[in-house]
Amino acid sequence: MSGLFRGRTWWKRSELKKSYDVVIIGGGGHGMGTAYYLAKNFGITNVAVLEKNYIGAGGTGRNTTIIRSNYRTPEGIRFYERSMELFRGLSQELDINMMLSKLGHFTLAHTDSSVRVQRERGETNRLLGVDSKLIGREEIADLCPELNMSMDVAYPIQAALYHPPGSVLRHDAVVWGYATGAYHKGVHIHQGVEVTGIRKDASGKCIGVDTSEGPIDAGVVVSAVAGWTTQVCDMAGVRTPITNHPLQAFVTEPVKPMLHKILVSANLHVYVSQTDRGEFLIGSEIEPYTTYNLRSTFSFVQHSVANALDLVPQLARLKMMRQWTGYCDMTPDYSPIMGETGVENFYLDAGWGTWGFKATAVCGETMAQMAATGKTPELIAPFRLSRFADEQMVPEKAAASVSH
Ligand SMILES: Cc1cc2nc3c(=O)[nH]c(=O)nc-3n(C[C@H](O)[C@H](O)[C@H](O)COP(=O)(O)OP(=O)(O)OC[C@H]3O[C@@H](n4cnc5c(N)ncnc54)[C@H](O)[C@@H]3O)c2cc1C
Repeated sequence: MSGLFRGRTWWKRSELKKSYDVVIIGGGGHGMGTAYYLAKNFGITNVAVLEKNYIGAGGTGRNTTIIRSNYRTPEGIRFYERSMELFRGLSQELDINMMLSKLGHFTLAHTDSSVRVQRERGETNRLLGVDSKLIGREEIADLCPELNMSMDVAYPIQAALYHPPGSVLRHDAVVWGYATGAYHKGVHIHQGVEVTGIRKDASGKCIGVDTSEGPIDAGVVVSAVAGWTTQVCDMAGVRTPITNHPLQAFVTEPVKPMLHKILVSANLHVYVSQTDRGEFLIGSEIEPYTTYNLRSTFSFVQHSVANALDLVPQLARLKMMRQWTGYCDMTPDYSPIMGETGVENFYLDAGWGTWGFKATAVCGETMAQMAATGKTPELIAPFRLSRFADEQMVPEKAAASVSH
């Protein structure tokens, strides 16, 4: 595998050592963030990030870049709010322009039950200090005059959960920023190296990994492979309730800035924003089937276009430019799985479904703490793998499904 990907990096290639204090599997935002905070917060730099493809090849390079913290459960709200705090200072900290645009995020409600859910979310958000509230039709029309507020559609807009801090920022800048920061602190980043096995000693403790370039010893192994989690967990003999679904998105040709809010409708299963380049970025819910196939489908475009035009009919004459698909590691309660796995020294950062980009910063911080100290940080304790057996789920479906 050597040469194919490694030659493309602009930094000096590191030698792949036989042993590291920490091996991180997966060179997405979560893996790179974990490596960066291990070095920055704990001074642990004998660390390797092993990426079978190229940096950001997974969900990190395919997402629609929405970040927000207006979740439903107190556990989720606190966790994502910490990520928002970290994101706000990241351009300066990593010296790379993340182009964070604080547009404001609307979760549109078209049914009575959705209005009730958005009201409940708004109240819980405010109790925990997160700026978010239910607004009615008049205020929606004032804040976003581009939205179609007609009553003459199948599902007229009744209300919205308005979250002013909801933002977008460059996903490539996040992963490259963390990668560069980690590299300059001494972390080894190896592209084109695939983990093929998790090595254990006779007592079942994790002692390293097998890779396409031979075995590597490790004090701690962190799996941050999102859509590939079931494969890596199989190697470790760890069972999770994760299923892998495709999620698609597309962009239109660019036009002058017109839409200044992020629009999400869980009832219509569609979301729309306009990028800094002027493209309209449109996505939907996961496909209902499980697969490791990245093929994009016409039925997704057909369904998303129809629903997006109900919200913003002005888009009708725009041409579609690109369509793509990524994997989503879905959990039964739409919350992540983080921390201990039952295999000593093998930690998991997974269950990122359609919502993991916004968690990149807080995951990096907390997984680094977990790997450095062996203790579960309070913020991620509710997301432990054992919660499914203990019936202690963290139900976020109402806030995380198409809402990203
Ligand atoms: C279309 C789409 C839109 C989305 N929109 C949003 C959004 O707006 N907001 C949001 O918060 N989230 C969104 N998401 C979800 C988000 O993209 C992911 O949850 C997040 O990027 C996961 O990041 P990660 O670093 O954990 O994993 P990834 O970025 O997927 O990185 C995992 C890496 O592991 C590598 N890998 C896998 N197996 C191995 C192995 N055996 N050895 C070595 N390397 C391996 C892969 O090559 C990959 O690069 C979206 C996802 C998609 C697909």
